[in-house]
Amino acid sequence: MMNFAIISKGDEVSARLEKRIKTYLLDFDLIWDEKNPDIVISIGGDGTLLHAFHHYIHRVDRTAFVGVHTGHLGFYADWTPEEVEKLVIHIAKTPFQIIEYPLLEVTVRYLDDRMESKYLAMNECTVKSVEGSLVMDVEIKGEHFETFRGDGLCLATPSGSTAYNKALGGAIIHPSLPSIQLAEMASINNRVFRTVGSPLVLPQHHTCLLNPVNDVDFHITIDHLFLLHEKVKSIQCRVAEEKVRFARFRPFPFWKRVKESFV
Ligand code: NAD
Repeated sequence: MMNFAIISKGDEVSARLEKRIKTYLLDFDLIWDEKNPDIVISIGGDGTLLHAFHHYIHRVDRTAFVGVHTGHLGFYADWTPEEVEKLVIHIAKTPFQIIEYPLLEVTVRYLDDRMESKYLAMNECTVKSVEGSLVMDVEIKGEHFETFRGDGLCLATPSGSTAYNKALGGAIIHPSLPSIQLAEMASINNRVFRTVGSPLVLPQHHTCLLNPVNDVDFHITIDHLFLLHEKVKSIQCRVAEEKVRFARFRPFPFWKRVKESFV
């Protein structure tokens, strides 16, 4: 028996669709279980799927996601409302195929004796200073790489490479490559300050460590979540052990989604 849950954006169109899908799936004898779902259907957009992912992050290894978009085509939300009957039948006649995408693991450590904070991001983590330029020593695999000065830094997953990372001139990375991408936000480059200037793609186990140079308070985002972290000692980013799982019912290749969204 399969348990399901639905997370909806909350607008009228999404709410109506949610009701319909729920009725269909109950008719197919699936079990409505918001606590322990095997499959989570997100209705809305990519933002809704990001919410769904973070809502069920504690059982990420046991939950499969599928996204319906009620607005424009999403990267995670790639089913249209017109297709829901087809989708429901697919879901009901399990087992379905699962595809896994890499995640970014972020560990924030503090100067006082607070416990470290650990996060998983599906899109990216960004770091900005609270006021003035961000100054960070960037360490890669234990070696000092550069001292960054500028607006901020963005570390993205492959599936998040089409989001904020893309706006920063980062490359689009296929989600079959377990990697993270470091992109700069408006770095200061002159005779005093120097950064590499290109986005960097790091493989598994090449940990990127950000060490504060003077200020120790930062605005850190994890996907849509925005948090102020005070007295930060370091921010560690690497490819996570955990992966996000998507239920796949039909081929919709990544490059096709890229083309349909951007070209
Ligand atoms: P939002 O409402 O500001 O929407 C951001 C847009 O990004 C939406 O159009 C959404 O469909 C799109 N998006 C989200 N994930 C994507 C992905 N993996 N690939 C391609 N497009 C994607 O914010 P939200 O819906 O809460 O989403 C949060 C995300 O917004 C963040 O994870 C970040 O990637 C993105 N963002 C982008 C910029 C930028 O491009 N300059 C700035 C801030 C945040």
